Amino acid sequence: MTGPGKLPARDFEEIRLAEALERGRCPVCDARQEASYAALRGLAREGATDRGLRAQMDKGLGFCQPHSLGLARMELLQTSSQLATAVLLDAVLRRRLTTLKKLSGHDASGQLRGFAELSDPRCPVCARTAEASRAAVMRLLELSTDPAWSAALGTGEICLDDIYALWAAAAGGSKEVASRWSSVAAAQLKRLDALQKLLAEYAHNSTSDRRHLITREQQAAGAASIRLFGGTADRDRTR
Ligand SMILES: [Zn+2]
Ligand SMILES: [Zn+2]
Repeated sequence: MTGPGKLPARDFEEIRLAEALERGRCPVCDARQEASYAALRGLAREGATDRGLRAQMDKGLGFCQPHSLGLARMELLQTSSQLATAVLLDAVLRRRLTTLKKLSGHDASGQLRGFAELSDPRCPVCARTAEASRAAVMRLLELSTDPAWSAALGTGEICLDDIYALWAAAAGGSKEVASRWSSVAAAQLKRLDALQKLLAEYAHNSTSDRRHLITREQQAAGAASIRLFGGTADRDRTR
């Protein structure tokens, strides 16, 4: 099995990672988005009738802000309604209200402890994306034994957060993984160095009297730096 480009891939997971790298997307962002999409689609379709999920919600499971919105949007897209979302949010709200009512009877330190606990929404979609992120990082480090993958990882548009994640996982891995990563890291640092120089030139040309000097390359560096810090934008899965 091979991806659409030249990276060798053994399964669909690897095809997806290869595709992301070949299309200039961060493969770890892509894996996270894919997992979030799948989890939200599942929740929108079956979440309201899933007894196991409801039982977990009675124990405090809820949704973070982005995934509350994500769930509502996904359901609207899939079914033109937001009824399942309402059923799920009702279950969360009930549980949260019970907690808040109990809290008002506590002293200040008890309330602070309660809010510290509430600050983690225990979002199941976040749990799935974190898991997908870890799996993608481990798989990419594994794939770096292949010279083509190693080269693609070195030049790929990996976002800064995921460079950190890959690097940290490599540092915490075996000696072999760490040494394989060091050549990827060197190539990534070279890429970031070049990007930073172009970005500086772009910024230098940003004044109105110099704006006509901006090159296409500098402009592209501006966009690439936003992807570096903001992660790869989600692709449109509805088409
Ligand atoms: Zn990323
Ligand atoms: Zn979440």
